[in-house]
Amino acid sequence: MTINAANDSHQLLFWSAEFKDPAIEQAYQLHVQPDTVRFLRISLFVWAGLLLFFVPADLAFLALSEGFFVIAGLRVTHAALLVWLARQVSRRPDWASNGWPVTIIALLGYPMYLVYPSYDPELATVSLGVMMLMFLSMYVFIPNRLMLTNLIALVGIVGVVTGLVLLDVPVTGIVLTILTLCWPAMLGYVAAQRVNIGSRRSFVLLQQAASVNLILEQEISRRKELEEELNRQALIDPLTGLSNRRHYEMLFEREHDRCRRHDSALTLGMIDLDHFKRINDTYGHDFGDQVLKFMAEILQQPLRHSDILGRFGGEEFILILPDTDIAQAQAVAERMRLSLEQDAVIRNGNAVKVTATFALTQVRAEDADIQECIRRADQALYEGKRAGRNRVALADAA
Ligand code: GH3
Ligand code: MG
Ligand code: MG
Repeated sequence: MTINAANDSHQLLFWSAEFKDPAIEQAYQLHVQPDTVRFLRISLFVWAGLLLFFVPADLAFLALSEGFFVIAGLRVTHAALLVWLARQVSRRPDWASNGWPVTIIALLGYPMYLVYPSYDPELATVSLGVMMLMFLSMYVFIPNRLMLTNLIALVGIVGVVTGLVLLDVPVTGIVLTILTLCWPAMLGYVAAQRVNIGSRRSFVLLQQAASVNLILEQEISRRKELEEELNRQALIDPLTGLSNRRHYEMLFEREHDRCRRHDSALTLGMIDLDHFKRINDTYGHDFGDQVLKFMAEILQQPLRHSDILGRFGGEEFILILPDTDIAQAQAVAERMRLSLEQDAVIRNGNAVKVTATFALTQVRAEDADIQECIRRADQALYEGKRAGRNRVALADAA
């Protein structure tokens, strides 16, 4: 019997309708355990109630005879065991899934059915009818493992047949009794098997849906990470890790708006490394790149978290200092300039020093965009280079 031909581990055993793979069967049992416990408890209480319900009927048939007390005693004992088990499975849910406790307690109920006819032979037919009903109910209403329910039915039939043989009942009577008991057992067995197959089929589908969901969730988070990485890459200069043009222009717009709204100070700076061409020419372009990376790190060190350093292109950088007027910006730029002057990149034991020229301009509310500020700063930068480099130049405030 196969639920899903594509997956061997989901095959079911023919007779028990359990999964062939014990691990999957265990997972299934755990999955249905809360329901199993709930239905088993209800069934056990109903079973105990039914047993006690027939005490008055016994009294009517047997009066206050020895037979009545034996049978009533068996009824009460069995009912007590059933109630005990019902309470027990709440604490030990594995007892419900395992099947043996309910099987043993069901088997302990047989003596009552078997002693019944010996006290009143007329009750033999009633006892047989009750047993038929019990077999059917056992398969249909009591959640138990199929093979164990088969065992309960088999023990019942063997017990009845043994009793009939001992009572010297003719063979035809015995065969008839066997057939009478077999048919509700088979009916119950087939019904329970269908329920077991259906329930396991739903479980497999649920598991498949869950694994598809998991794959989808993993794919979604992988794509999210990829998207975040792409977004990050779209805003970051790959060599230096600084903001690229797109990013710092965006940040400038935001800061410019804020400066207009709050009438706060905002300063823009340009930084151009001095004689950088010589570095490339002397040590090669790759080393030049390493120096650029190193310079970017040094330039970033004296900055606040809210300050923005971007790569303008080549060996030129853009500085955006929110809440900073030109005088404060000058102090910041001076610190940056000094740290560049003091730090050196070591190559083959030689210290390579790179300085930079800084140009600052205070951003005005009426500046249309960053380009306007850059034009002013660029002019100051040109002046700074002309004046000898390695200095901080201020754009004309006018
Ligand atoms: P100065 O600014 O002091 O006038 O002289 P400079 O030599 O730095 O001149 P300029 O700014 O005009 O030239 C920039 C040089 O920087 C040209 C090029 O060799 C180098 N450069 C620009 N971008 C890169 C880059 O991404 N990597 C490397 N290694 N070098 C670059
Ligand atoms: Mg340049
Ligand atoms: Mg330069």
